[in-house]
Amino acid sequence: MMEYNNSGLEINIEQDEQKNNSKQSSIIPEIRPLKCPNPVVNRLSLLPAYPTFDRFGPINGDHLLLANVPVRYLTNEQQRRRSHYQFHQPFTLTDQSNDLNVRPFFVKIYGNLYENLTKRFHIDDATLDYNYERLSMCMNIMTQERIRYGLLPIDTIGMAKLRLDEYTLAMEFYLQIDDELFFMKTCSFRNAQPSSYEHRGIFCIDEPRSFYGLQPCELVTCRFCYPIKEVLMHGRQNQPVVQFSSAHTHRFLNGYETILNCPASCTTKNILYALTCPCARFDYVGYTSMTLDEQLKYHREHGNRIIHEFILGPENIKQIQQRTKSPEELIVDDILLYKHLAHCPSAIQMFLDCNPQYWHFVPMLESEAATQNLSCNLSSNNYTFSPYQRFKQPQILKNKRDDLKPNVHLDIYNASIIAVLPDNCTQLFYHLIEALFITHAQTKLNTLGHLDGMIVENNNSNNTYARLVSTGHDSNWCQNLVRRPVISYEKTRSLASQRRNPHFQ
Ligand SMILES: [Zn+2]
Ligand SMILES: [Zn+2]
Repeated sequence: MMEYNNSGLEINIEQDEQKNNSKQSSIIPEIRPLKCPNPVVNRLSLLPAYPTFDRFGPINGDHLLLANVPVRYLTNEQQRRRSHYQFHQPFTLTDQSNDLNVRPFFVKIYGNLYENLTKRFHIDDATLDYNYERLSMCMNIMTQERIRYGLLPIDTIGMAKLRLDEYTLAMEFYLQIDDELFFMKTCSFRNAQPSSYEHRGIFCIDEPRSFYGLQPCELVTCRFCYPIKEVLMHGRQNQPVVQFSSAHTHRFLNGYETILNCPASCTTKNILYALTCPCARFDYVGYTSMTLDEQLKYHREHGNRIIHEFILGPENIKQIQQRTKSPEELIVDDILLYKHLAHCPSAIQMFLDCNPQYWHFVPMLESEAATQNLSCNLSSNNYTFSPYQRFKQPQILKNKRDDLKPNVHLDIYNASIIAVLPDNCTQLFYHLIEALFITHAQTKLNTLGHLDGMIVENNNSNNTYARLVSTGHDSNWCQNLVRRPVISYEKTRSLASQRRNPHFQ
């Protein structure tokens, strides 16, 4: 597994020169890197494992359950644990009822939580019990974090809030989350067929394989199956938002892989999905009870709004904004998933490709700017607005502010369904599974859910910019933007002046 890497997270957004209408004056100039050289909890200790000799002693790689690793890749010690190691049984249970047809209630609970699972999963009571403890620890960390954020009542006590059937479902997910791969081969809900893959309980016999596709729904109203041409061609440069496949897997940016556990399509609800930024350095895991498209609508709306606000800058936004921000917008403004977009050159590039009218508000190299007019006051900063831009900006802000509405159909993040979840479970259950994926995929755009404390450490900081993530460019945000030859908007500018623009490729 890749280790969490701090390098490259630091950005120093230089204050744009004063000439830029102090557009970035509200941005704190220096954004500090995420400071978590040592996560609070070792990720190993959150993975499913065999009981250690003293049950709660430290574990190493040999102790891990490694359910997704075929036998031939295990060390001798690991093979021994999987096949015939006798673990100390933490309890014995004897049914002493007089009538064999009426099992005591307690034994029925045991049957649901242990007996059924040990048979289905091919593990013993000791291993199962040990992993209930471990899962319970994950749950406690998650609930504590959500309590801190005011998302759960202060008296919420971890697993105690799950239903009995959710204990076993959560365990089924948990045991099949390995160090590097999620492969839920036992899945039997939502049209999954556990027999599709030859396995021994939760354990792989052969190489893990994907059986379920992420299929197009073929509905003409579906934006994934029938993308809006203009957005696909210009904004996304022909890159679809969702990649369909008949045997679906997803690889996170840290290398963690997931194999889809049920058949899925664009219309599947109740899912875990992944978003990946076009910069290929930041990703995200989310749960939604809706379909992927319904969920992305929300991300689109706020993502495009935030880039729009960033490019125009606070002064201009104040001028054209008809209303004050809603409380929801103010909350969203602080969420990493959206914040990143305003500091990611790849995202801004995609936005500009789709909305070329915003180029009037993107400073250019002084040498370029100078070519657009006879007189240009050179300053010490490399980037400036050309006199032509300065001439156009007030016009657009005053008379053509409708031009400054981003195309609401542009999805900036690439999306994928990574797991289908059982229906009718509690929110707590869904957030637990979500947090497990966030933790092992080490997704940098999730504020909550890193059970190993990868970002939690920074969440204690009042300085929200401390958590602001960027792509590591330590120079002007507009430095590497490329003006593509879409000449639909600006008809007044002569071709000759465009050719002189070194950014015009
Ligand atoms: Zn579709
Ligand atoms: Zn990015």
